[in-house]
Amino acid sequence: MHEFEIIAEIFAPLAGEGSFGLKDDAALIAPHPGFDLVVTTDAIAEGTDFFAFDPAATIARKALRVNLSDLAAKGAAPISYLLNIALPPSITSQWLRDFAQGLKDDQAQFGVSLLGGDTARTDGPLSIAVTAFGFVPQGKMVRRAGARPGDAIYVTGTIGDSGGGLAIFRREKHALDEAQRTYLIDRYRLPQPPLRFGAALAAHATASIDVSDGLVADLGHVAAASGVGMIIDAAAIPRSAALRALWDDDPAAIVRAATAGDDYQVAFTAADHNAVMTAARDAAVTVTRIGQVETGKGVRLLLNGQQLAVQTSGYSHF
Ligand code: ADP
Ligand code: MG
Repeated sequence: MHEFEIIAEIFAPLAGEGSFGLKDDAALIAPHPGFDLVVTTDAIAEGTDFFAFDPAATIARKALRVNLSDLAAKGAAPISYLLNIALPPSITSQWLRDFAQGLKDDQAQFGVSLLGGDTARTDGPLSIAVTAFGFVPQGKMVRRAGARPGDAIYVTGTIGDSGGGLAIFRREKHALDEAQRTYLIDRYRLPQPPLRFGAALAAHATASIDVSDGLVADLGHVAAASGVGMIIDAAAIPRSAALRALWDDDPAAIVRAATAGDDYQVAFTAADHNAVMTAARDAAVTVTRIGQVETGKGVRLLLNGQQLAVQTSGYSHF
């Protein structure tokens, strides 16, 4: 398909308010009085964040969701996104239709629409960059800086599942049943960012981050930005039954989960424990208290009072 056919036939049906049907040079985002516009961008690439053999629909949804997790972490409600895609020659029109169907499903699930983008050819790997927009009540964006000694530390969902799915793809030995294997691979292909919890974070979190590099690394970013230290109860880090079956339950397994990355859950700090747990119940989002903010610096992982050694705290692209 030619570039203009791709835009008109594949992407225009996904376009929403302010996009002018993808028939103009630029798009508009109308201001919402009383709200700040929150902007974030993240790209995913074949061989790094997904495999070429992954379904086109889950590649599309992962590209969108790794951005929506940033908005959720900042307390923002998503509204729209830009899509910048570089297509290798191997991409077929059926692949593009499946890709668009994945976007359409997530647009319906998360209440977002396509605002615009750019379409190019590449001789390199398939890469997809999304820029996402959301609104947060004015002055309420949750920063990395803001954690205070005495705050509790929390994380949404479970940690390490995506890393487990990736390990299975890399042919790590395992004795999982089909349901466990599928669960972990699904978590690798399709992150489950806690969008329903964004508003609660804006109301109650003192600092927040989406967990992309690894729980320890990302909490390290929050600790550094806030000028505090953190103590994590390693045993409290929420891990799924499937991940425990894959990696066992020993200290090495916990460290591996806490450093695997690609989770797209949200780690945050807050002072009012009851408000956090009530909001979690109302939003039907799993939230687990995993530690405490203290004075000092750095993130320490404690298991039965013993500090666990962490070689590399998370994933690095370089
Ligand atoms: P320009 O030459 O002005 O950059 P383009 O031909 O690149 O225009 O794009 C035309 C329209 O199609 C614009 O509205 C642009 O936002 C939209 N568009 C192009 N590629 C994509 C894409 N991958 N996803 C969404 N919109 C796109
Ligand atoms: Mg262009």
